Amino acid sequence: MERTSCLVAGGGPAGIVLGLLLARAGVEVTVLEKHADFLRDFRGDTVHPTTLDLLDELGLGREFAKLPARHMTDIQLPIRGRMVRLATLTHLPGRHKYIAMVPQWDLLDLLARAADREPTFRLRMNTAATDLIRDGKRVTGVRYRTADGATGEIHADLTVACDGRGSVLRAAAGLSLRQWSTPMDVWWFRFPRNDTDPAGAVWMVTANRFALLLDRGEYWQCATVIRKGADAVLRQAPVADIMRTMITVAPWLADRIDAVHDWDEVKLLDVKLDRLHRWYAEGLLCLGDAAHAMSPIGGVGINLAVQDAVAAARILAPKLLSHNITEADLARVQRRRLVPTMVTQDMQRAVHRFGIEPSLSGALDISTFDRIPLPLRVFRSLPVIRTLPAFLVARGVLPEHAPDFARRPE
Ligand SMILES: Cc1cc2nc3c(=O)[nH]c(=O)nc-3n(C[C@H](O)[C@H](O)[C@H](O)COP(=O)(O)OP(=O)(O)OC[C@H]3O[C@@H](n4cnc5c(N)ncnc54)[C@H](O)[C@@H]3O)c2cc1C
Repeated sequence: MERTSCLVAGGGPAGIVLGLLLARAGVEVTVLEKHADFLRDFRGDTVHPTTLDLLDELGLGREFAKLPARHMTDIQLPIRGRMVRLATLTHLPGRHKYIAMVPQWDLLDLLARAADREPTFRLRMNTAATDLIRDGKRVTGVRYRTADGATGEIHADLTVACDGRGSVLRAAAGLSLRQWSTPMDVWWFRFPRNDTDPAGAVWMVTANRFALLLDRGEYWQCATVIRKGADAVLRQAPVADIMRTMITVAPWLADRIDAVHDWDEVKLLDVKLDRLHRWYAEGLLCLGDAAHAMSPIGGVGINLAVQDAVAAARILAPKLLSHNITEADLARVQRRRLVPTMVTQDMQRAVHRFGIEPSLSGALDISTFDRIPLPLRVFRSLPVIRTLPAFLVARGVLPEHAPDFARRPE
């Protein structure tokens, strides 16, 4: 029978960070990842200052700095062809005054390599957790299946579901979920970027189109919002129609109208916003998207998942080392992470309601404004208010820091 102290299902940001930190405390930890690698297109690539600080504390800041990255400091809106800066991160406290755009697979590879240097860490790729094992009511491990069809069981003092927003383990545990309706789904695609284009992140709010362009150096990573469930119908139209709506407010894209040739290049993100009432059961804890799927607004999903993992490692490592973990310990993790999650999800719901819904219904079209609207001018003129949304997105509420046992010098 296979056995470990902590079994983590899912090698995304939550699972890998949890595995790394627990292993640095000396806890026997096994992470199961169902894919063969971390390569997934259009997954969250935004690494916020809180995560950048954490990487420094873990002694991984220099290695991270070598990854291909773009630094995003400004959020801008095009109004009548002019770029208007809505928020900037350059005034924020702390060493990292930017959001780093780094391919998620590079970040996960780096973290997994660091974890591999710890003797108590095991990462099993191509291995999917398929069900929970129980002893009475207590969860005592998972059943798994490998890519070549082999099955088995791993028993553990604690099982942590970090298997994302479609979590198999959360479903197997029967934990109840609160869901909020969202007005939108998101299409992701790429446009080539020229050096003469604006830099940073660009929001576009026009009649029936709410879009975000993220500067990735050689290309724009574009997200454009569509009405929830409208994907199948909209795909009946020629793909070039998306490009035409983009260039109405971003004329610099006009020379690249043919860049997206095929609907296969446009990936659908089925947007979800939900949260478990209780993130745990006896022997089981859910973290990251498995506990709370986030809307892509603010690009905070990775960072919240990472912060969950840090809090869990800090609270649970001593308990795992003494093989004495209780439901009260798991409840502490949820209590610590609930407020940041609620605040972020409430902000996302506000943006859905006051930005995305009016844009999708055609009631809000910034591209037609003659001048910057009054609320925006007031917002821009008050430094404290102007900095607050940037602060909340970049640093969030109750940021987590690496526990002493996980810190390493650079
Ligand atoms: C298209 C898209 C774009 C996004 N853009 C952004 C963004 O720009 N910025 C941002 O911060 N967030 C973004 N997000 C959200 C962000 O990716 C997630 O919030 C974040 O990755 C959550 O991390 P996680 O570790 O909880 O889950 P995930 O990243 O979903 O990781 C779960 C992992 O578990 C594995 N897995 C699943 N089931 C099993 C199983 N049964 N057994 C073993 N392994 C399993 C998966 O393969 C995956 O590697 C985006 C999400 C999507 C889908």
